[in-house]
Amino acid sequence: MGHVAKIYLYYEDPWWHDEIFVKFILWNDEKRKQMEADPAKRWLLGYYTAVEVEHKPKVLCLWMTGPYVTEMEQVPEEEFNNKTLHFVNQFFGKSYNLTQPSIIKRTMWNTNDNFRGTYSYRSITSDSKNAQNKDLAEPIMKNDRPVVLFAGEATDEHFSTVHGAIHSGWREADRLIKLY
Ligand SMILES: Cc1cc2nc3c(=O)[nH]c(=O)nc-3n(C[C@H](O)[C@H](O)[C@H](O)COP(=O)(O)OP(=O)(O)OC[C@H]3O[C@@H](n4cnc5c(N)ncnc54)[C@H](O)[C@@H]3O)c2cc1C
Repeated sequence: MGHVAKIYLYYEDPWWHDEIFVKFILWNDEKRKQMEADPAKRWLLGYYTAVEVEHKPKVLCLWMTGPYVTEMEQVPEEEFNNKTLHFVNQFFGKSYNLTQPSIIKRTMWNTNDNFRGTYSYRSITSDSKNAQNKDLAEPIMKNDRPVVLFAGEATDEHFSTVHGAIHSGWREADRLIKLY
């Protein structure tokens, strides 16, 4: 999966009406090859779905995943907005009467030093090295006592989820309760 980003488009006058709007993006081989060869455009290949946002009828969310996310986050604002609008037009302009969004916002989770990513996932490399999530939950011990404890989604068997994150907090709280 690699990285994840969300791009929000706010429309005063939304162009998708009376439907549950969830669309997946597929490029044909020829177009994909053309895009891959163009460093200024290839990040657009990272867009893979466009969905309405629950309880926010004027907001459309574009999801982006994979290696293109980091490139996308580095594109200057104006260029990013123009290319995203062109992309929306390319995929939806034939089927819908498109309006213009008044706000476009993108997440910067991957290039932000305080985040450097979104959530963990298992890769083929983790499997081949038999690296387990529970390895990340091992506390640092001193004189048989844990001195640094680790919680967070990545340490739990239900990694990548909120319930995994919560469970990991309970696990470490239990560890301390047991200790004291
Ligand atoms: C786009 C997206 C969609 C998701 N969808 C779902 C979903 O539908 N269902 C689901 O269950 N889960 C979903 N998740 C995953 C879920 O949000 C995470 O697994 C969960 O929030 C992780 O919680 P956490 O407490 O482990 O880590 P985080 O919520 O990442 O908390 C870590 C905190 O540490 C802070 N921090 C980092 N470095 C430092 C530092 N050096 N000093 C101090 N603070 C620091 C960060 O700022 C952050 O606040 C989604 C995540 C994303 C990004």
